[in-house]
Amino acid sequence: MSALPSLAPAPRRSIERLLAPIDHLAAVHPSFVAGSHGRFELEGTGYSLPRYLYMGRRGGGDTLRIGIFATIHGDEPEGALALPKFLQSLEANPDVAEGYALFIYPMCNPTGFEDNTRHNRAGLDLNREFWRQSEQPEVRFLESEIWMQSFHGIVTLHSDDTSHGLYGFVKGNVLSRHLIHPALLEAGRFLPRNHGARIDGFDAESGIIHDGYPGMLQSIPGMAHPPFEITLETPQKAPLHRQVDALVIALQTILTEYRYVQAVAQNI
Ligand SMILES: [Zn+2]
Repeated sequence: MSALPSLAPAPRRSIERLLAPIDHLAAVHPSFVAGSHGRFELEGTGYSLPRYLYMGRRGGGDTLRIGIFATIHGDEPEGALALPKFLQSLEANPDVAEGYALFIYPMCNPTGFEDNTRHNRAGLDLNREFWRQSEQPEVRFLESEIWMQSFHGIVTLHSDDTSHGLYGFVKGNVLSRHLIHPALLEAGRFLPRNHGARIDGFDAESGIIHDGYPGMLQSIPGMAHPPFEITLETPQKAPLHRQVDALVIALQTILTEYRYVQAVAQNI
């Protein structure tokens, strides 16, 4: 009897392995406050959507709460891969995170990551489901976090396999554009920018899009004082270490610039 080739489905990617570097940092560094998880069940398997809280050194003013979200598209884990290096850089250079509480969501689409798909296992693009009464547990958890933490800033990390260079979306507070400029400039040390006039179907200028998809991960629509909102996109086909370095320096730059702007505003 001849052996038939196995038709078993491709093995699922390990969330645990992807998160191991952050879990390690969280275990050894006191700046991390215990994480929390949005839990849900799917076909009898329990899933969790992890959140880590990193408290920077106390600054002079109010604590600035920033939400950083990655892997909302399951096949774009580059942001999650950059976060350990970013957090490590804050330990090495605590000035950057001074005055901040960073809420880190490295794995916003666990089933999509396991399956290596953009969509979650229910077949939905979660980045089109926000603030539309979605029943997806991932979206409900993230919406409640956005609601409860009332962030000063929201940064979302993506990678785009159709772009040859870096670009980003800005929404929310008018400050967003003043933060993304220096962030892309610094990130340009590691990767080229996408200077196309149209990117991803949107008008763009110097790699910046002042628009976005309905239902994308963002603050509560219609707020009088929205947070700054920045989506960073790295060219997914570029070497991973360059995407990581570009995201690390872009995130550092956003924190440094935002604190500076806040300090100036308080002195006016
Ligand atoms: Zn994406």
